Formats: sequence, structure tokens, C-alpha cells
Amino acid sequence: MLIANDHDGERTLAAKDTPDGAYTCPECDSGVILKKRGRKIAAHFAHTPGSTCTAEGESWRHLLAKQVLAEEFTRLGYTAEIEVSHRAQGRRVDVVVSRVDARGNTRKVAVEVQDSAIQVDEAKSRVARDLRLGYDATVWLFTSNRAATLLIADEDDEVRVPAEMLWVDNRYGQGVHIIDPESREMWRVSFEGLHRSGESYSWYGPGGEPTGVDYPGYSPRTLRKCSRQQVGFKLSSVQGKFGDKWAILLVPDDRQP
Ligand SMILES: [Zn+2]
Repeated sequence: MLIANDHDGERTLAAKDTPDGAYTCPECDSGVILKKRGRKIAAHFAHTPGSTCTAEGESWRHLLAKQVLAEEFTRLGYTAEIEVSHRAQGRRVDVVVSRVDARGNTRKVAVEVQDSAIQVDEAKSRVARDLRLGYDATVWLFTSNRAATLLIADEDDEVRVPAEMLWVDNRYGQGVHIIDPESREMWRVSFEGLHRSGESYSWYGPGGEPTGVDYPGYSPRTLRKCSRQQVGFKLSSVQGKFGDKWAILLVPDDRQP
């Protein structure tokens, strides 16, 4: 994790110049250790070995992605906060991005980075909690590690797309967004609309989730052709499909939101 509480309970970001001292985990209150040297990521906090805290065990890619996201969103004029805890709801948002809209209201979105697989039900549950917590939307990003096959596929290849990515594509209608934290690049992968007999969006419920209904001879297709486009970190909003106030689209930095 990148954020811990110092002895005054203040949020502290791990960095090379963060003072040594006693820090606690914002999720479980146990003591955590400031690690200033890592192979891929400079500084972070770690629990003692054997901890079962849910905030422990993130990959270096996940940590680095959060750091890169916060820096890039800040560069574009947004307010970005890493690892925001909502303990009562059992939710820790990877990066909260906010800005003041034209009417003077602060709008915030939850940015979620996946470096490993996630069950569609868990993703749905996080979105529901985020909406209750006042976020306009949840932005799902997959790392170049988790979505590697989508990044290296040739145009004509059919690629097996994990269920949670099909869910994200269906729910937001924006394809999936992939971050390479080492090169600081963001990509959007869109799936080709291959229509074959029996394929239907009726397999999805009102929240965009697969219904699990198994019609004879029919099943949601996990093999898709995909196309890639490099995008930036600027957020653009369109009306959401499923109760989100907005679906958030990452667009090239030089485009107007
Ligand atoms: Zn903890």
C-alpha cells in the first residue's frame, strides 16, 4: 500500500523523503513498515509477514499504476487521492479523482485498477457501493499484465476475453482500458461486434452482469476480435447505462472532455 496513517492519524504517502516512524494500516490499524527501496517501486508500506489484511499483497504493478494514475490526473488539473478508505462499507478505492464542475459542484469518480482476476459479482458489488458512497461512477482499468493478451493480439486474432472485461465492456459500452504503468501508457481495446446466430445481450441483467442463464446451444462468446487505440488520462463523461450518473471514458489528453 502507498498510504498509511502516521502517529497523529494523518494520511501519509510513502515516498523517499517520508520520515521513518510508526505507521498504521488505515484498513486494519496494525503497524506497517515503511519500505523505501523496492525493485520496481520506490517506496511503499508493508504489513509484517503473515498478515491477512486485505490491503496487503498488491503487486508492484498495482502500486505503480496507482502512483502513475495519481500523477497523470494531477498533471491534468484533477484532484487525485490514492487509496481512499471507506471502512464501514468495506471499500478501499484505488484512486479517487475529483474536479469542480461548471455549476460549482465537486464531482468524484472511483478509479479501480485490476492486476489480477476479479469475479463479476465482486466488481458489481464495488460499483453498487461506490454509487451509494456518492461517486458518479467507477472507472475500471486493467493492467498490461492482466490484459496482456488483448494488447499483443493481431487484428485478426480471436482472443479469449475474461468475464469481468466483457462485463465492463457491456456495462459502460466503452471497451476496456488498459494501463501500462511502466511506460505510463493507456490503451482502449474495443471488441469487434461479431454477430453470430444466437448471440444476444439478453444474457445480461439490468446491471450488465451475465445472468448465468444457459440457453440450449447458446452461450456468451468469450472469444472476440479486438482493436486498440492509445488514449490519455483525461476523463470524459457520457450518460451511464445502468444507474451510474456517468460512464467515464478516458480520452487522449489533447481532446476536450
Ligand atoms: Zn492492514
